[in-house]
Amino acid sequence: MTTQAFDLAVVGGGVIGLAHAYVAARAGRRVAVIERDAHANGASIRNFGFVTVTGQARGDGWRLARRTRDVWADVAPKARIPLEHRGLWLTARSNEAVAVVEAFLATEMGDGCRFADAATFRRESGGLGGADLKGALFSPHEVRVESRAAIPRLAAWLAEAMGVTFFNETVVFEAAPPALGTSRGRIEAGAVVVCPGDDFVTLYPDRIAAYALRKCRLSMLKLADPGFRLPAALMSDLGLVRYQGYAELPEARALEARLRAEHPDCFANGVHLIVAQGADGGLIVGDSHHYDHLPAPFAPAEAERCILEEYARATGRAAPPALERWTGVYAVADDRSYLIDAPADGVRLVIVTSGTGASTGFAIAERVLGDLMGLEVGTTA
Ligand SMILES: Cc1cc2nc3c(=O)[nH]c(=O)nc-3n(C[C@H](O)[C@H](O)[C@H](O)COP(=O)(O)OP(=O)(O)OC[C@H]3O[C@@H](n4cnc5c(N)ncnc54)[C@H](O)[C@@H]3O)c2cc1C
Repeated sequence: MTTQAFDLAVVGGGVIGLAHAYVAARAGRRVAVIERDAHANGASIRNFGFVTVTGQARGDGWRLARRTRDVWADVAPKARIPLEHRGLWLTARSNEAVAVVEAFLATEMGDGCRFADAATFRRESGGLGGADLKGALFSPHEVRVESRAAIPRLAAWLAEAMGVTFFNETVVFEAAPPALGTSRGRIEAGAVVVCPGDDFVTLYPDRIAAYALRKCRLSMLKLADPGFRLPAALMSDLGLVRYQGYAELPEARALEARLRAEHPDCFANGVHLIVAQGADGGLIVGDSHHYDHLPAPFAPAEAERCILEEYARATGRAAPPALERWTGVYAVADDRSYLIDAPADGVRLVIVTSGTGASTGFAIAERVLGDLMGLEVGTTA
């Protein structure tokens, strides 16, 4: 491998690594991305591609998501990445769920969002919703990309249009500026950002161990085209007790007690519902959450059954046939949504420790590189 000098080397070609590469390249820096696989193959391509604003943790998380959504909206057309959905519908099937939605709308996070009664939701969604539907929250803030295509497309655009150099099928085993040791030789860079996703052992294992991270395995499906077009991504009542922006409101306690009593199997499998539709009409549906130091590859069939039953409750329709099934894994911490660590001079370690990397990554990258390289970053009110 030829020795080259870069201003920044990014370890990891997932969405967090690519976000850092973009922010540095946008500022005119010479950037290298070093990725172990031929292309990102982990959480970043296995997710919903759902850039979620409404429901993110109040304060920092919500602001990071708003900014990241704006960067996606700017970058996507330049990189020829279609935005498959805009907005979010979230069903409320009980008075307790309606109370959480109303409490949410009364906060600053409810700005631009609205509650639709059941008839309005049915009309605007083409007739979706079960018999018990009371209404639904609508948020205009979300965008959604088809990650399996969008992440490779983002990488290709960074290479073609932004001058980023990619070293794929290359493992970094030492990151100490001005040089990185890799499985294909030495790469020179003035600064390094390590974005290893759920790899806690190759670089800085002791630093990572200090955060007591675990991993979360999620079950996902692609269902056949249901014959209708979703007007936006769809979530259900279970999301109101899972996403912190709602779940931390006091009103969520009564809803959680009700849902736990009604659907203990969903809680046992960490199931909540997101349904997103791709350009081919197929539905990306999930997900479940099983936590472990090293999640086994054996995803319980019960989790899938819970997801599909919640789909039927939320839409009022039987689930179409499954076309694909997969699992994904992401890093988790009990006490934070992401970590930024400085393990050595000129090095930052960045791990999103919640299932929110597609929603917060660009803004986290702006924060990291503002500090590490003094780059000017944009803002979202
Ligand atoms: C099923 C599922 C659904 C999700 N849904 C959403 C969603 O809708 N919205 C949302 O915001 N978030 C979602 N998430 C979370 C989101 O996908 C993650 O937070 C995000 O992808 C993490 O990105 P990353 O780049 O840190 O990690 P990864 O995608 O895991 O990428 C890390 C990369 O680093 C490489 N690497 C690691 N160490 C080295 C090394 N030493 N040398 C070279 N390469 C290395 C790996 O090969 C890997 O490609 C979901 C996650 C899953 C699993």
